[in-house]
Order: sequence, then C-alpha cells, then structure tokens
Amino acid sequence: MDCKICLGRAKLVKKATVRNAYTAEYYLCANCDFMFVENPSWLEEAYQSPINTTDTGYVMRNMYLSRKTLLLFYILFKKDDHFLDYAAGYGMLVRIMRDYGLNFFWHDPHTQNLFAQGFEHKGEKVKAVTCFEGFEHFSEPIKEMEKMLLYGENLFFSTRLRPAGIVPDESWEYYGLNHGQHISFYSTKTLDFIARKFNLNYETDGNNLHLISKRKLTSGILKIINFLTKIQADLLIRKILKSRTTSDQKILLNQGL
Ligand SMILES: [Zn+2]
Repeated sequence: MDCKICLGRAKLVKKATVRNAYTAEYYLCANCDFMFVENPSWLEEAYQSPINTTDTGYVMRNMYLSRKTLLLFYILFKKDDHFLDYAAGYGMLVRIMRDYGLNFFWHDPHTQNLFAQGFEHKGEKVKAVTCFEGFEHFSEPIKEMEKMLLYGENLFFSTRLRPAGIVPDESWEYYGLNHGQHISFYSTKTLDFIARKFNLNYETDGNNLHLISKRKLTSGILKIINFLTKIQADLLIRKILKSRTTSDQKILLNQGL
C-alpha cells in the first residue's frame, strides 16, 4: 500500500471494529510514520451527523482553542489581518474569535454554518488558517494542505499526536471507533515531513497543537502559548482588542440577515 503522504510503503499494522459493524484496516508508513485507514466504507454513515453526537467536548474545546488562537495570533499577526477557520463546522470558533476582536471567516463544505452566518469565506487570501480537529478526518491530507495553503501560508491546527513509531492499542480513544470519523493519525515525524514537503517550518506543543508556517518560528512557541493560557494572559488581550460582537450585528442587520 502506498503511503498517502510520502508515497512510501505502508504496511497493515492493525485491525479494529468501527461503529460495531465494520473492520478498519490501519496502515503505517515506515518512512514518514503516517498511520491511516484505507478505504473506510462507513464514512457516509459516519457523517450523517457531521459533528459526532458523542462529542461532548465540542463546546469546551472551542473555548480553550479560541483562547490559544487569540494569544498566538495576537503575538504573530496584526489585529486587522484576516483569518480563516477551515473545516469550521457550526462556526462556533469563528463567532468566538470575532467576539474577541479578530477578523475570522468560516469555511466548511460539509456542515451548516449556525453561529457565523454572514462571515463565510469568499476565497480571498488570509494571513493565517486554523483547522481544529480536522486532520484526523482527512482522507487526503496533502490535498487538504494544498487547499489551506492556497488561502494562507500560516497554519495553526490541532490533532492529537500519536507517539512516533507506535501503533496505540485500542484503549487510545482517538481512534474514535464508536463514530468512525477518525482515519488519519500523525506523529511529530509525520507532521515534520509534511512541513518540509511544503518547504515550511513546524512547531508543536508535543501534544495536540501544531503550527506550520513560512515564518521562522520561535522554538517552543506553542508551549509558551499553553503557559500564557494557564495564567489567563488572553484576558488582557481581550481588554486591548475591540470586540466585533456589536459591529457584526450592525453588518448583519444592514445585510437584512
Ligand atoms: Zn509516508
């Protein structure tokens, strides 16, 4: 089997039962350490509800990711820059980021925009792209990377790291065997390979946050962001930035939405 990322040789390393009905076959690439499910036949069924119904962490995750995004983007970019949330789902993160004061837009061909209507991305270039809990859903990660990099050359995303060279046992909840939506699993080696493939720099917090960027990155920047989140430095930034909550409402009222 060809690896979907580096085209190296991937070997069957695991089988598991998905959605209590299907047998998933997991392949691991010896070159870039990418692990993936080949041809998952259950995806249509798995996405009947795009945000899986057992995802009780959805709201909390949006809250803490928004705080980290605020800190990172305040440090790296200008306050009037445009940003895009790719695979933005219901639009909760976009709404929160706009409430904080950053100019975020929504993009998601598969999910209804509930919270960020009127702020759909129209295809223009942005300063940075976020993609949270998206990479593990991608069946073609390189194609998705290419799409995101067309919009912006800084990419901040989350996906839980797999320890390098390891095939976790089934107690690893990130397999998502109950819903079957997770089909791609990366280690730092894989993400570093992807960044170098696009001639970009890579930083990680060593857990689930990642930054791929054309910029030269401060070593450990995402660990610094995690620390700043712990001491609630984002509250200070919220005092400095002007929230878009009220001005967005005016925009929407003017549009007759
Ligand atoms: Zn590979």
